Amino acid sequence: MQIGCHVSISGSIDKAVDNAVERECSAFQIFTRNPRGWHAKELSKEGIINFKSKLKASKIDRFATCAHMPYLPNLASPKDDGFKKSVNSLINEVERCAQLGIPYLVTHLGSHLGTGEETGIKRLVEGLTKAGKTKNDVVILLENTAGQKNSVGSDFKQLGEIFKQLKPAKKFGVCIDSCHAFVAGYDLRTEEKVKETFFKFDKYVGIENLKILHLNDAKGELGCNLDRHYHLGLGGIGKKGISAIVKFANKEKIPIILETPIDDERDDFENIKKAKEFA
Ligand code: MN
Ligand code: MN
Ligand code: ZN
Repeated sequence: MQIGCHVSISGSIDKAVDNAVERECSAFQIFTRNPRGWHAKELSKEGIINFKSKLKASKIDRFATCAHMPYLPNLASPKDDGFKKSVNSLINEVERCAQLGIPYLVTHLGSHLGTGEETGIKRLVEGLTKAGKTKNDVVILLENTAGQKNSVGSDFKQLGEIFKQLKPAKKFGVCIDSCHAFVAGYDLRTEEKVKETFFKFDKYVGIENLKILHLNDAKGELGCNLDRHYHLGLGGIGKKGISAIVKFANKEKIPIILETPIDDERDDFENIKKAKEFA
């Protein structure tokens, strides 16, 4: 089983590996930079070397690591300016992943800002295709969304339609977020429902394209479209559901990444321990 959580790069990028090892992670996710701004300071040579050597010295498989896009880019934006900036940011992140030896970059599909799904998807495909031209092995993973207003890609059928337009195919994959799927209306509360949901995913997208699983319970209920992650087993999905998802990911050998909150109830250490118990 490959499991871990999103870890901080605070201090220097290689600290992420220390944080992952400390949490007994066999998989992890990072932001390669501050996710709250547009600016990305270049990675230092030293940071890259230290990140790679620490990762090599750890027991963590490189193919169980990923980076997540920063928050501001919107690849479905109808505004020329915002769209261009977003695509540049995506290309830049792909290149940063290549420098670090990180094989996967998770991205959200963005918001059409009221211009309609068709318009948004056209933009999105155009932007992703541009980033797919980068000359490296980094695979861009499309993450399913919670189905908030104007967002693209919460529906597996639509996600599949978008995914199939992307060329070259080897540059693209998918990341499923269990919280997002649940609040978008895919029931995950029992083993049976988990099977049904992944069967639907397989039908429209293809299970072989699922490279990373974001394992989060949901603060809200089924179909509420509320993107609020919660501690494993304590949210709307619950113990039975989370346990079935973990088992499914393990069977399919998909690395599991937690993006659960840190509060009085639990921290990362405890949620990772819980996930291992659920397995
Ligand atoms: Mn995400
Ligand atoms: Mn996620
Ligand atoms: Zn989320």
